[in-house]
Amino acid sequence: MARADFTPADRGELYIGGQWRPARGGGSIAVEDPFTEQVVAHVPAGTPADVDEAVAAAKSAFEPWAALAPSARAEHLSRLHQSLANRSDEIATTVTGELGTPIKVSHRVQTGLPLTVLDGYIRLAKETAQEGEIGNSLILREPIGVVGAITPWNYPLHQVMAKVAAALAAGCTVVLKPSELTPLVAYLLFDAVHEAGLPPGVVNLVPGTGPEVGQAIAGHSDVDMVSFTGSTATGRRISHLAADRIAKVSLELGGKSANVILDDADLARAVKTGVGNAFLNAGQTCTAWTRMLVPAAQYEQACELAVQAAKAYAMGDPFDETTRLGPLVSATQRDRVHGFVQRGRAEGATLLTPDDVPDRGYFVAPTVLADVDPKSTVAQEEIFGPVLAVIPFGDDDEAVAIANDSRYGLAGAVWSGDPDRALAVAKRLRTGAVDVNGGAFNPLAPFGGYKQSGLGRELGVFGLEEFQQVKAVQR
Ligand code: NAD
Repeated sequence: MARADFTPADRGELYIGGQWRPARGGGSIAVEDPFTEQVVAHVPAGTPADVDEAVAAAKSAFEPWAALAPSARAEHLSRLHQSLANRSDEIATTVTGELGTPIKVSHRVQTGLPLTVLDGYIRLAKETAQEGEIGNSLILREPIGVVGAITPWNYPLHQVMAKVAAALAAGCTVVLKPSELTPLVAYLLFDAVHEAGLPPGVVNLVPGTGPEVGQAIAGHSDVDMVSFTGSTATGRRISHLAADRIAKVSLELGGKSANVILDDADLARAVKTGVGNAFLNAGQTCTAWTRMLVPAAQYEQACELAVQAAKAYAMGDPFDETTRLGPLVSATQRDRVHGFVQRGRAEGATLLTPDDVPDRGYFVAPTVLADVDPKSTVAQEEIFGPVLAVIPFGDDDEAVAIANDSRYGLAGAVWSGDPDRALAVAKRLRTGAVDVNGGAFNPLAPFGGYKQSGLGRELGVFGLEEFQQVKAVQR
C-alpha cells in the first residue's frame, strides 16, 4: 500500500441504533496525519446528548441480544469478521495515515491482531460453558449489561476489538468512544458492523473528546460497566465517576516494563529483541520493555549492542516499506517525549544515540539512555516514545528489586540460558505478563496489569468473563 492509497474522507455522522445519523452538536474534530502534519479529515465531536441516545439504544438492544444463544451471537460476529477482513488493506492504510505506524507493522499488528482477536471470540462464544454446578446450585454466567468502551490511539482497532468482541460475545451491548486522535479506523469498523447487519443498538459509536463524551459515558447511570484503555490518570478519573453508582470498571493502563537480562543469557539476542520491543510503534506501546536491566559486568557491551540495534530503526514516511520508525501520533506527544529525554539527561543519564530527525513529521529519534538511575524520572515514568533506559544490576535479587520498583506492573521479560532460572525470576516480577527468552505474544492469554497498570483482564476467556455476572440458583 502506498501513500496515494490513503485518501480519507470527512465522516459527519455517529452510529446509533443501527443507523448513521448526525451528531447533536455542531462541533468537529480534525484528524491529522503525523507525517505530513496536515489535517486529513474531520469527524463529529459528540456530546453528552449523543451519549444519552447511544446508551438508550444499547439498553433497549440488550435483552434480545443477551437472550440469543451464544452460537447465534457468534454467527453475527462471523459476518462482522468477514466484512472487516474485506477491509484489511484499508484498515492498515488508515492506521498508518492517522497514527504513523510503519505500513508493514500496520498490516501485521494493527490489522492482523484485531482480526485474530475477533476470530478467537467467535470460537469462545461457541465453546465457553455458560452454566455449571456447585452442590445444589446452578451457576449461570450472564452478560453484565450495557458496556461503555473508551479507547486510546496507539493500537486503535485492536484496543477496540479487545473490548467490543468480548462484550458482544458475552451478550453485552456497547457504546464506544474511540480516541479523538485516531477515530478514522473506528469508522471502518462501524461500516463493517452495518454491512454485517448486527442488530440495531447492539454496538454504537460516539466519537468525541474525553472530557465531553468519555466522561458522559463513564458517569452514565445506565452504563453497567466501563471498559477503559488509556493512561493511569484518566483511568483514575473514570473509576471515580463509576464509583458513584458502583458500576464495574475494567482498566488497561500504563506501563514501565523491565527487560531483565541475566548473566547467562544470549546477550546479543536479548538486547536486539529488547530494542525491537521498546521501539515497536515508535515506543507507543503500553507493554514496551522500556527499562533494559543488564548485569554490571556486561553493561558496556549491552549498551553498544543497543546502540547498534537502534541504528536499524530508519525513520521516514510510514508508507515507505523500508521505514522502521514512524512519527509519534502528535506534536504534543513528540514534545512530551523530548521533555522526558531532556529531564533524563539533566538527572544524569547519558544519551548514546544521535537525536537528529527528518525535517517533516512528529519524529523522535530512536533513543538509548545509559547511566540511568532506577529512581530517576526516565526510569519511573511512562514516556510513550522510542526511548530505552539501560540500567545495570549486581545479582538476580537486585534485578528483581529494580524491576519491581515501579508503580506499574503490566509486562516484562526475562532472559537466561537456564529456563528454570528464568522462570524463577519471572515468578518474582509483580506484573501481568512476562515473556521468557522471547516467548511469543499469545492473543488468547489474559492481558492486564498489576498495581497502577490496571484492573481486570482482556483477551481470551479471561477477557470474556470480565463482561459476565455470575448467578447462583439453588435447587
Ligand atoms: P488517555 O488516557 O489520554 O486517553 C484514552 C481515552 O480516554 C481516549 O479516548 C480519551 O479521549 C479518553 N479520555 C481522556 N480523558 C477522559 C476523561 N476525563 N474521561 C473519560 N475519558 C477520557 O490515553 P492516550 O494518551 O490516548 O493513550 C496512551 C495511554 O494508554 C498510555 O498511558 C498507555 O500506556 C495506555 N495504554 C494502555 C494499554 C493497556 O492495555 N494497558 C494499551 C494501550 C495504551
